[in-house]
Formats: sequence, structure tokens, C-alpha cells
Amino acid sequence: MRWIEDKRLEPSDSGASIPLLLRATWFALRTACQMTIESHHRRAWFRAMAALLAIAASGPIFAQAPPASPRFVVVLDAAHGGDDAGARLGSEAEKAYTLALSIRLRSLLMARGFAVVTTRESDATLEPDSRAQIANRANAQACISLHAAESGFGVHLFVSSLAPVQNARFPAWKTAQAAWIMRSLSFAGVVNSALSHATVPVTLGRTSLPAIDSMSCPAVAIEIAPERSTDVQGPAGLDDPDYQARVTDALAAALVEWRSQAREASQQ
Ligand SMILES: [Zn+2]
Repeated sequence: MRWIEDKRLEPSDSGASIPLLLRATWFALRTACQMTIESHHRRAWFRAMAALLAIAASGPIFAQAPPASPRFVVVLDAAHGGDDAGARLGSEAEKAYTLALSIRLRSLLMARGFAVVTTRESDATLEPDSRAQIANRANAQACISLHAAESGFGVHLFVSSLAPVQNARFPAWKTAQAAWIMRSLSFAGVVNSALSHATVPVTLGRTSLPAIDSMSCPAVAIEIAPERSTDVQGPAGLDDPDYQARVTDALAAALVEWRSQAREASQQ
């Protein structure tokens, strides 16, 4: 798996971490022991070297830089946009809803230390291939395509319906996701758990997803519907702030869990 092979996740070679001056000072001290110099000269020599050794051992200028924390890249794809308005959600278009959702989720993820790449930041028309291109260039560890619908209830969670294949050497663009299906199903499992934990109803499905089918990353599509069926008393609509917050918080929690699973796997 790509994220396991990521060398940035590995600690630096400890052999290279001994400060050069520390080693040079130690060498000088050892040499002094072997030298036949007069005793008072030797004492002065030792004092100077011991002082250097103390500075070398404790001085902040010799402290090792902390290892760079590995970048864990998440791609957020706000579905539709521009000429493609998507579904009508009351007075709002789906394209506006997904963009707002993407922006909200991005800030939650950045606050949790994720590197976030978005497919669009404005009301722009974007073909499925362009979305996949952005995702594949990002070398992401998780990709989420965001949709919304008025029909049904809760969150509809989709994984591509492509049949899984072993890591193809030269995957076809249209079916690149086939090599990632098993990872995508695992990722969907983590997302499902987080949403269920937040008491958001989830419906799981497999379907053809034009943008995701070409993505080389663990990927899911999420379609947010009102929390409850509208014929039930007291529906929580798509614009309910509490419902929106529970969904986005749960998605952020799912990605935190997904990241910790990836880091654990990389240490094995
Ligand atoms: Zn949609």
C-alpha cells in the first residue's frame, strides 16, 4: 500500500543523529589520555574539553530538529458546480451545499493536522476526469466526494461498484479505483462506524461513480439526506445546523481514526 511505503513515516537513521562536535570532542579527550604531556597542561586540556563536551551535550544549537510530521493528505471533492447544479434542495442547489460542506470539513481537518486538497473552491464547472486528476496528483490517503439529496434519510455511503483487482502495473484510467476497492471498503467501514456513533443513520451501497472510479486512493462518496424521513414528525432538514455539525464532526473523527490505523500499519 502506498501509505505504508511512505518513507516520511519512518524515523530518521539514528546513526546520523550524534552531533559532530560531540564526537570530535570525545575523540580529543581520548587522544589527551593517550598523550604524554605535562600534567598541568593535561589538566587544562581536560578542563577545556570537558567544557566543550558539556556545551555539545546540552546546547540547543546541537539539538536535533524534530522529525517532520508525516503529511496525511485528504482530498475533498465538492460534487457538481458551475453548469451542473446537481439536485434541487429546497431553495438551494446541491452544488452550493456541497461546496459549503467541503469548506466546513476542510477547516475541521486542517485543525486536526491534515493536509487537505479540494477539487474546487468556487462555483466552477469540473469534469469527473479533472476531479480524479486532482485527487491522483495529491497522492491522497483518503478521498471523499460530497453530495446531498432531499430524498431518503441519513447519510448514503457509496463505494465504487468496480470489481476489485490486484494492484495493476498500468491501471486503466477509467477503472483505476479497481485496485483500491478493498481499501475503499475498509475506509467506508471506518466512516460508517463514526457516523453510527454520532447516531446518524447510514445506508451503504456500491455504485458507478465517474470521478471516483478513476481515483487511485481509498475513496468514498457521501450523500447527505435529511436526518429523518420527511413524513416523520419533526424532520431534521439538510439545513439543520446541529445535524450538519454532527455529520461533519463524525467525518472528521472517521479521518482521525483512518489516519491512526494507517500509522499503526506503517509501524508494523
Ligand atoms: Zn450529487
